[in-house]
Amino acid sequence: MSADKQTFTGNRGLVLEEALIFEIGVSSKCGVDLEPVPDAPTMLGDCGANQAVDLPGLSEPEAVRHYVRLSQKNHSIDAGLYPLGSCTMKHNPRLNEKMARLPGFGDIHPLQPQSSVQGALELMDTLAHWLKTLTGMPAVALSPKAGAHGELCGMMAIRAAIEAKGELGTRKRVLVPESAHGTNPATAALLGFKVDGIPANAEGRVDLEAFKAKLHENGGDDVAAIMLTNPNTCGLFEPDIIEIADALHAVGGYFYCDGANFNAIVGRVRPGDLGVDAMHINLHKTFSTPHGGGGPGSGPTVLSDRLAAYAPLPYVISDDGGYHLVEDQTQAEAPAFGRMVAFHGQMGMFVRALSYMMSHGSDGLRQVAEDAVLNANYVLATLKDMMSAPFGAPCMHEALFDDSFLKDTGVDTLDFAKAMIDEGYHPMTMYFPLVVHGAMLIEPTETESKATLDLFVATMRDLVASAKAGDLNRFKQAPELAPRRRLDETQAARNPVLRWQADICEAQAAE
Ligand SMILES: *Cc1c(COP(=O)(O)O)cnc(C)c1O
Repeated sequence: MSADKQTFTGNRGLVLEEALIFEIGVSSKCGVDLEPVPDAPTMLGDCGANQAVDLPGLSEPEAVRHYVRLSQKNHSIDAGLYPLGSCTMKHNPRLNEKMARLPGFGDIHPLQPQSSVQGALELMDTLAHWLKTLTGMPAVALSPKAGAHGELCGMMAIRAAIEAKGELGTRKRVLVPESAHGTNPATAALLGFKVDGIPANAEGRVDLEAFKAKLHENGGDDVAAIMLTNPNTCGLFEPDIIEIADALHAVGGYFYCDGANFNAIVGRVRPGDLGVDAMHINLHKTFSTPHGGGGPGSGPTVLSDRLAAYAPLPYVISDDGGYHLVEDQTQAEAPAFGRMVAFHGQMGMFVRALSYMMSHGSDGLRQVAEDAVLNANYVLATLKDMMSAPFGAPCMHEALFDDSFLKDTGVDTLDFAKAMIDEGYHPMTMYFPLVVHGAMLIEPTETESKATLDLFVATMRDLVASAKAGDLNRFKQAPELAPRRRLDETQAARNPVLRWQADICEAQAAE
């Protein structure tokens, strides 16, 4: 069958077309046989609804099919390789799911008396112990709910420490390398700091001399912090990190390390030994809790001795009477900067992450890092003769390519990524990091087998050969086999249509 064959139903074989629930549901239909509501006197006065709510109704089989079909349109790590660089889309072990559903963890409520949730508090304390041990840091705030939220937590601790020294008016500058994740400068700016970029050197790492020049530009006492990612977003280890930390500390600044890429070094390097003052850990990346539509994030933030006193509430302590959650400043020994969330953070993710850590053990976690790095280097080594690798080999946990191998083919990074969809692959991260032109960042993660990687590499080589042979149709028309072709993503992001209204929505759809 040709790729552009139109079917009567819009279905493509067993890939089923599905309309919006508003288009298939009717308000008069209900999947449950409810008793008619008796005509009782209302106590709402004239505040009662005066028009139908108009929610779409479906029968039970229609409802089940609607959501199953939608779920099948959503690519997931359970369906196939998901080499999205920087996102660490690795397998979520099912053991962790089983643990998170144990009634003692799954069925409890944050407002329950603490005496009735001692096991959950002990789990939080044990998780904190593992995170502190793995990072070599003395304190951790468990409550942040994502990596970016953890950045905010760490930078708020830094701001509190600066304020305590009476330097808030002068320490205004935060140094951020060019290759940083966009959340780093956003976090610094949100807290009122001035973001000052540091260029990368020809090897894709922080340019040490440029860093020192920036640091000492005004004598150094106006620098609040550096926000540095290690390994960085080019997938490379920053070898000058200790020198950077020392120079920064010498002028009274703080070292924020973006720890989203911790899976590349867990069990091998302790950030505390590198001079880090604060670092968030994405439990949903490094410790395999589901993310990307599959579950909420969790971004515990480890803190050095210089910042531990400012850690946000609440946190767990223990004494002879058991475990306690320190909930307000009057119970706390140190001047917490406040709190990040209403309760204590993502309990379900805490359980999954600890289950992952304990089932691997410390030797297993070291192997996680080794295998993540091995797999990325395998991809880099098997593709770099056909694709262009700006910084060569070896890399850490992700392999970075640029678009120079596509020069003069008429195919660009976006076309290439769309052609991957026709081959059944979620594209790699595109156009990030910004330090190279037309970036393609591939992160296979450690949970992919050699057979899976071999098929992926063979597919990529076949695509590159097609591009170089001038087979433009394979790229410019792609994706031809996906439920939707090329959506106007910019329009969808800038003008999201969040409310369905007949007629209007049809006209505004992004495709
Ligand atoms: C993923 C990531 C973040 C942000 O984490 P979220 O959980 O998505 O908020 C920050 N920095 C880097 C380097 C990342 O890869």
